[in-house]
Amino acid sequence: MNVAAATDRRSGTSVRWLVELLDVIGSKPLGSRLRQCPHPGHGGDSHPSLSITERVGGGARLHCFAGCPERDVVRSLGLGLRQLYQPPAVSPRRFASLARLRMEFPPVALRAGHPATRGYRLEAVHTYEPAGGVDDRVRCHRLLRWRHRASGAKELMWETRLADGTTTPGLLGTPERTLPLYREREIRMAIAARETILVIESESSVDALTGWYATTWAGGANDVNTDRLLAVLGGYPNIVHIPDFDVAGLACLWRILEAGLRLAVLLGEPGEDARDLHRRLGSDAFRDAVADAARRSSDSAPARAPRRPRPWPVPPAAGGRG
Ligand SMILES: [Zn+2]
Repeated sequence: MNVAAATDRRSGTSVRWLVELLDVIGSKPLGSRLRQCPHPGHGGDSHPSLSITERVGGGARLHCFAGCPERDVVRSLGLGLRQLYQPPAVSPRRFASLARLRMEFPPVALRAGHPATRGYRLEAVHTYEPAGGVDDRVRCHRLLRWRHRASGAKELMWETRLADGTTTPGLLGTPERTLPLYREREIRMAIAARETILVIESESSVDALTGWYATTWAGGANDVNTDRLLAVLGGYPNIVHIPDFDVAGLACLWRILEAGLRLAVLLGEPGEDARDLHRRLGSDAFRDAVADAARRSSDSAPARAPRRPRPWPVPPAAGGRG
């Protein structure tokens, strides 16, 4: 047997063992590879958001879409990270009884028409912490992003986690405009520490830019929450906005500038968003491009990120770019 086949067999075994363990302890499924997250810090997972998949290079990977660290999820199952590669030599049922794993999982409510019943898979969960003092019944709001398996279509859905640990669909009547900025608490800390803050257009881009203080607003490019941006960021000198370089993104940039928020602007190439730009430039060049943009005032022309190297020399244009 070759090494790849042996690796496949080992990851398959780890994945099967972990899925069975989650089933044994009562974690309810969504499809074959999603289960309710057992980490106590998750606080009751009513939309199974823990995926159990093969890890590249062997072993199993546990990924909680709500952001629970893998180490903590593994620990809550009475396991260590090593056991993702080599599950214990006893059956999951025997292990659960030896480790005295007793857990309570909330009911999974999938209503008719729910994305999970229409061929969508959960791609990400973005948590908006409450601004504080608004509604003490609410622990947080979560934006769930679903992706259709065949068409790739995206669907967004809000849910609200209540103080009693239960989760209810929708925003409980809270208008999107009154929600805080995405990761607003971190952003307020970054302001206190005089760090550069990136304003970008989607929660998934914010999540992808690890190591940066980045934020966005609930509502997307078509509904810029300029009030909230001004309330949190107004007057702060060290903000770089990376708009999506498309019609909606540039319109959104215009509304932000029109509202009077002073910020530097960094543009990638047509079609790029902040995450694409970061991926293309790599971490170091991205950091330089942000620093370069931040040095400019919001009154000057937007900074352009380094261009993509051209594969062949371009002849001089006759009448400039139209
Ligand atoms: Zn979790």
